[in-house]
Amino acid sequence: MQELERKLAEYLNVEYLLLVNNGTMALDIAYRALEVDGLVITTPFTFAATTSSICWQHNTPVFADISSESFTLDIASVDDKTLSLADAIVPVHVFGHPCQVDEIAAVAKKHNCKVIYDAAHAFATTINNRSVLAYGDAATLSFHATKLFHTVEGGAVVFKDKAVYEKAKLLVNFGLNSQQVPEFIGTNGKLSEVHAAMGLTNLTFIDALIKHRQQLKAAYYDRLNTYMSFQTWQANVTDNGAYMPVLLKNEAELLHVINVLAVEGIQARRYFYPSLSLVESFGQRGVTPIANDIASRIMCLPLYADLQLTDVKLISDMLINVIKQYRGRTTT
Ligand SMILES: *Cc1c(COP(=O)(O)O)cnc(C)c1O
Repeated sequence: MQELERKLAEYLNVEYLLLVNNGTMALDIAYRALEVDGLVITTPFTFAATTSSICWQHNTPVFADISSESFTLDIASVDDKTLSLADAIVPVHVFGHPCQVDEIAAVAKKHNCKVIYDAAHAFATTINNRSVLAYGDAATLSFHATKLFHTVEGGAVVFKDKAVYEKAKLLVNFGLNSQQVPEFIGTNGKLSEVHAAMGLTNLTFIDALIKHRQQLKAAYYDRLNTYMSFQTWQANVTDNGAYMPVLLKNEAELLHVINVLAVEGIQARRYFYPSLSLVESFGQRGVTPIANDIASRIMCLPLYADLQLTDVKLISDMLINVIKQYRGRTTT
């Protein structure tokens, strides 16, 4: 476990990295270590864990809208009153695309908010050659088996501040200090040695994996670009090739395509759906038309280690055929 922690900190080029037993625990520990309390501005275009962890820690999520280009939290969509009441901002580097980190930092400073990035998709991502994990008071990673780098189950928190990191180290180990006295109210958030061993093995071929996935993604882009639109990537950031999201014209078209592909044995996943600002249990606070629209017509195409370029061509051609037929039928 310590070896993986050291090697990951080195690989990702960050100082204070703490391994934990999953990505949701990483969020929980970040909020606890930073003492997040009250209103939290977050994005509805994410996996449920981003929001449920905020609620689980008895905080209140308020949903900002997202950029229609990067799909990340648009801090300009939040009014000053909400910002003045907020204790923290929890944006997500969606599909690995970094948030507007400088704008968010400026707003957070002005309104005295903590910033915790959910970086579950952003393993090895950089902005101007700097790790995306270096932004915010904390950034969290998930190492679930479905993620780019994985330990089967696992996660990590990267802290900016050494003192907060030292506190978090105790929090994941029942709050016990070196005298084995519970100095804080802690939990069991440790990554197991078996999971860490899996991570050490996976780390040996992560570079080759990222490269392969980037090639597959480029091939998808090449074939599909006249038929659908994609997340727009800034020039100064790296794409780790973790996901292949595509936007269709509307939800009806999306559902048709997913159903036809499923019959052919190809699984395209609605990810993320639904927009979490529409979910009753999360309180439905915030007006998010862009997120609701994107969530209704986005899907992720197959992208995994064993997929080959020939598969990408097959899937793309099939997808194009389905869309052509569908659009031929529905337009007059
Ligand atoms: C996977 C994921 C999580 C949760 O991580 P787990 O390791 O499954 O607990 C949180 N946020 C995002 C954006 C994710 O994709």
